[in-house]
Amino acid sequence: METKTLPKRGQVPLELTWDLSVVYAAEADWESDFARVEESIPDFDAWKNRLAESPQNLLQCLQKQDEIGVIFSQLYSYASLKRSEDNAQAEAQGRVERVKMQGTRLGAATAWIEPEILAMPPQTLRDFQAQERELGLYSYYFQTLERRRAHVRSAEVEDVLALAREATSGTSTVYKLFNDADLKFPDVEDENGASVELTHGRYIRFLENQNRNVRERAFRTVHGEYSRWRNTLAASLSGAVKSDVFSARARKYDNALHAALSPDDIPTDVYRNLVSAVRERLPVLHRYLRLRKKLLKLDDLQMWDLYVPMVAEVEKEMPYDEAQQAVLQASQPLGEKYARILEQSFDSRWIDVLENEGKSSGAFSDGAYTTPPYILMNWQDNLSNAFTLAHELGHSIHSYFTRETQPYVYSHYTIFVAEVASTLNEALLTHHLQKQAEAAGDRALQLYLLNSYAERFRTTLYRQTMFAEFELKIHELVESGEALTADGMSEIYLQFNKDFYGAEVNVDDCVAIEWARIPHFYYGFYVYQYATGISAAAALSKQILEEGEPAVERYLNFLRGGGSDTSINLLRGAGVDMATSAPVHQALDVFDEIIAKMEALAE
Ligand SMILES: [Zn+2]
Repeated sequence: METKTLPKRGQVPLELTWDLSVVYAAEADWESDFARVEESIPDFDAWKNRLAESPQNLLQCLQKQDEIGVIFSQLYSYASLKRSEDNAQAEAQGRVERVKMQGTRLGAATAWIEPEILAMPPQTLRDFQAQERELGLYSYYFQTLERRRAHVRSAEVEDVLALAREATSGTSTVYKLFNDADLKFPDVEDENGASVELTHGRYIRFLENQNRNVRERAFRTVHGEYSRWRNTLAASLSGAVKSDVFSARARKYDNALHAALSPDDIPTDVYRNLVSAVRERLPVLHRYLRLRKKLLKLDDLQMWDLYVPMVAEVEKEMPYDEAQQAVLQASQPLGEKYARILEQSFDSRWIDVLENEGKSSGAFSDGAYTTPPYILMNWQDNLSNAFTLAHELGHSIHSYFTRETQPYVYSHYTIFVAEVASTLNEALLTHHLQKQAEAAGDRALQLYLLNSYAERFRTTLYRQTMFAEFELKIHELVESGEALTADGMSEIYLQFNKDFYGAEVNVDDCVAIEWARIPHFYYGFYVYQYATGISAAAALSKQILEEGEPAVERYLNFLRGGGSDTSINLLRGAGVDMATSAPVHQALDVFDEIIAKMEALAE
């Protein structure tokens, strides 16, 4: 355990903190914006039931909504960033509470707008756009509403659906409380014979333990404990799936997958293609697993041997300024403009670097339309933090380009595209540091870097796709009228593991219950985006490194696109067509190349 005490917020050197004073120089400025939003809330009533009267009414109402939205998001962003500096500060907490409540009031005052637009005949909406040129800005926004039109029911049915949502959303809460609060694992004996309490957080540490018996004990203990609750957990997951299927049917979607993908207009083929392309390329995973077995010097690979480091840990010191330089050099293929924004993020204090007492943990990129795209870090001088910095800068520069180019209404990008920008930066950093290590003849570092990247393919592309397929399967079972039982789900889950790991891993029966351990199955078709994200990023980084300029231009235009089109169209513009399986194959070609390099280095 680390015992060093953390500095207080006031003791952190100013140049290593973010500069929020460019958002609000004084408390009073925040208060006056707060008051401005408050005063505007009743204004929306003037257009209620009157949007269809004239194109001007519609335009004015939407413009007002954007104008207030811009200010509100700045207020909110400032309050939450300020609080994350030191969560113990009562004043900062109070500000967040106030702005949240204001958000609820603003939301209630504007909640009628979209239903009222949807109640207008499509022809009226088209006529309005023809009559009022300024409404042209909102044409993609209207398209997104149009997609929902067929799935909005009568007022009476909508009322019932709103009531039903409260009644059916309980299962995920039940699971969360069980998993986070009530579930307790038995102790596990560590490598020194000491009894250690097993927790969610410690589980991965146990799986990384060099002692194989410790890994096996932890693995069996965790899954054994979930197994004790198998019927309860099956009923809980079944309830969540049924609730997805219910709302998809009530809204007349083809199925639950269609309902989940429809808001961003992602064709269900994207999901199915991902699953089939990844299954087609299982031999690449098997090649990697053979290398793992060889490097770990094991005769057989067990389920508890998948997370223990297969190459020597590299204790590479990486001070913050060195990491900045590394990210800057790694991003060189992205051109001058990208580099200038990176420098600006360092020089203009967009990044809150060091850990201090009360500061929020982890790392994130945040900010609003009118603020710099700030980054929170809890810096430690190592490689893994350099990758986190590259990741968050990917998000921030995506936000920068988007906000510079798009009007407010399109300034939010989807999760589907978000992780592409961050993961691409990590890929470029891997490439850069790997080349550097190669030039220096540092085989250990090369191997370590390649292995870290390879692990991402295994855990993000393969494992998440296996999850995605499982999720699809259990929804399809409910849709075809079958019951989801613990035995049924365990049988499918075990078979999927056997399919994915093939002959390279002894798939122990005790993993069959693992579905009960994965909270993401309650998120409704969410995890596939991890797999599509890394696929698109790997494919794009390959294009950027091989093609240069034209690929870079396409990529920067994608960053500028924000939320101005569907995720699929935006990525298509960048050079990857997620509606085909080509990007997944391109990404897995990258994975295959990494394994080949690792094999050569391991000789
Ligand atoms: Zn991210």
